[in-house]
Amino acid sequence: MTDAWFLIAEAVCDRCGGLCCRDAHPPLTRDRIDDIVSAGHPYGTIEYRGYSCLAAGEDGMCVMFDAGSCRIHAIKPETCRAGPFTFDVVDGVLEIWLKQESICPLAGLLREEPEAYARLYAVARDELLRLVRSLPAGDLAAICRIPEPETDKVAEIPLEEEIPC
Ligand code: SF4
Ligand code: SF4
Repeated sequence: MTDAWFLIAEAVCDRCGGLCCRDAHPPLTRDRIDDIVSAGHPYGTIEYRGYSCLAAGEDGMCVMFDAGSCRIHAIKPETCRAGPFTFDVVDGVLEIWLKQESICPLAGLLREEPEAYARLYAVARDELLRLVRSLPAGDLAAICRIPEPETDKVAEIPLEEEIPC
């Protein structure tokens, strides 16, 4: 994706107003927790829901969402970097799913623009592979039990190691 595509994608997200940051609870690896705490954010921004994740405020938005944008853009969790792709792990296979346009305007753009799709898919694949290989097995299993409606499976990647999910 060209720089112009990045700018277009950012503009789409800006207009959207952070739909994916509502009730997001993005999972956190141990390294990501260290990054967030080292950056000065209190432990209170992190909670455990069967897996470690960022908390949400009373309005349902992620605690890191502020004035329309992400306060931790440089260190945001892997699932945030992977959006609008999401994932599941079934029988040792990483399944990558793409949100439908009804819940993510950027996903609509990716479906129309193969170059943009290829570039963002490559980023998502690498982020999600790193995530599933870094999370504790119990955390990963809990995440995989969360339903993700309005998504379409776009890829399956066998994992070398057995991951219980
Ligand atoms: S990834 Fe999709 S849902 Fe999230 S801010 Fe961008 S357009 Fe909105
Ligand atoms: S970490 Fe940032 S991008 Fe991810 S859900 Fe929270 S505010 Fe949104």
